[in-house]
Amino acid sequence: MNRTVLLIEDNEQNRYLATFLLELSGFTVVSAADGRSGINLAQSLMPDIILLDIQLPTMDGHAVARHLRANDTLSTIPIVAVTSYAMAGDRERCLEAGCNGYIEKPINPDTFIEEISAYLGASSSSPESP
Ligand code: MN
Repeated sequence: MNRTVLLIEDNEQNRYLATFLLELSGFTVVSAADGRSGINLAQSLMPDIILLDIQLPTMDGHAVARHLRANDTLSTIPIVAVTSYAMAGDRERCLEAGCNGYIEKPINPDTFIEEISAYLGASSSSPESP
């Protein structure tokens, strides 16, 4: 299985680490440094999953998620927010904006792939209940 991950993340070090871990596990990774180009790439690539940083310049992750969810062809792709926000309310906002879930930043190299895979598994059957 060669799954494609779209990584929308403005921080180069975070992009580097996530890409490294994903490629090591056999994923194809395409990354975008801002929301607008991330949305464009999502439309042209139709990735298996989208990893979305919430703190992005110009258009934040919540806005990006809403745009992706408003698009019929993209609306079923799992979106996982990657967020360093500690407050529960911010995470609820991620889910309200259309994300399927979130993982914590800094990402944990030991569990990152497992966390991502859980969302990929969920995409082929019924959506995970909250
Ligand atoms: Mn960021």
